[in-house]
Amino acid sequence: MTQETLALHFGYEKNDFGTMAVPLYQTTAYDFGNAERAANLFALKELGPIYTRLNNPTTEVLEARIAAVEGGEATLATASGQAAIFFAVVNLAEAGDNILVARKIYGGSTTLLTHTLKRFGITAKCFDSDDAHDLESLIDEKTKAIYFESLSNPQIAIPNVEKIVEIANKYNIVTICDNTVATPILFQPLKKGVDVVVHSASKYITGQGLAIGGLIISRVGLNDKLIGNAKYPQFNEPDESYHGLVYADLPFPLFTLRARLSLLRDIGAVPSPFNSWLFIQGLETLSIRMEKHSSNAYKVAKYLKAHPKVLSVSYPGLEDDLQHDKAKQYFKDAKTSGLLSFVVSDFESAKNILNNTKLFSVVVNIGDSKSIITHPASTTHQQLSTQELEAAGIPQGLIRLSIGLEDADDLIKDLAQAIG
Ligand SMILES: *Cc1c(COP(=O)(O)O)cnc(C)c1O
Repeated sequence: MTQETLALHFGYEKNDFGTMAVPLYQTTAYDFGNAERAANLFALKELGPIYTRLNNPTTEVLEARIAAVEGGEATLATASGQAAIFFAVVNLAEAGDNILVARKIYGGSTTLLTHTLKRFGITAKCFDSDDAHDLESLIDEKTKAIYFESLSNPQIAIPNVEKIVEIANKYNIVTICDNTVATPILFQPLKKGVDVVVHSASKYITGQGLAIGGLIISRVGLNDKLIGNAKYPQFNEPDESYHGLVYADLPFPLFTLRARLSLLRDIGAVPSPFNSWLFIQGLETLSIRMEKHSSNAYKVAKYLKAHPKVLSVSYPGLEDDLQHDKAKQYFKDAKTSGLLSFVVSDFESAKNILNNTKLFSVVVNIGDSKSIITHPASTTHQQLSTQELEAAGIPQGLIRLSIGLEDADDLIKDLAQAIG
């Protein structure tokens, strides 16, 4: 079955009522029926609903469905994209370890991975994901994860996925790719050998800016990389918090299982069942929305490219874009989502354009059906120093657009009057 079909049907068996919509199980807990079943569930002899901090039937449909659409094995849904990234990384790295992080990533991920995790004893070393030329030299015996974005927000950079995967496999290190902007409709990192995909479901997956959520999806066969790998004792040695259970002995996808039973259990950043239900609605239309977001953005990018006040445009879907070859190599029909950026002369000009647009909302979000305009230097990336901004490829005059599902000509008219 294709992704379009899986996104509508996978992971849901109709109940006795024949309910067409996936039911919303808005509940905290579940009746085990008897003491034996309760004991089996707690001892992991049987997997099933225990408490909504661990799992929920509505969330399980979302998890199964996104795993199928990504071409992965298993999913853990979380309360936010940030929680997904945190869980994915600390499922691998502990105090004393280090992780390698692409320079061009989401600002929130940079602060989490390079600043907050440092206070937990996990240090980050940054690498250039465009060509990964410096990646191998940064690896040491304490390197536990390699983290990058498939289409980076806000730089819209496309990494050299093959090279990153090849180097990671040489050293038996797990790769994590944030696929939020590309979505599985345009690119499937797991099919390229990436080990773990994370998402902010708050963006294209919900699609209408309705809810915050995150997803962690593991590659089919990732167990083989974890089992017996001395880098990852947490999967291979007894877990004291589970009476000495060894994850590697269990016949399940271990990455998401451990993230659920250890991290989600203890830290609790679980999605509300209602939000999971919203993400299920979003997945149903994801493929047609990504087509329209991409074709609209293509038209807007072409318009901006020809504008005399625009210094540069970054949209890999454009034929003459520097990254177009990579877009063709990785992305479905070289379509690269609704995210594009352009640069005007300075900070003030960028702010004026934001203030003059009427159809675009000044919002720090992407992936909404309504178009959005953002000035990263004054908002999402304000916490970064000037040097960090430069290193992340974000000039002061950079404007990011998240092109929605409106008519492209209406969007172009609005930009025309705002730029002047
Ligand atoms: C928004 C975003 C995040 C963070 O997700 P939240 O759901 O807001 O916590 C992470 N990565 C990327 C690429 C994002 O765009």
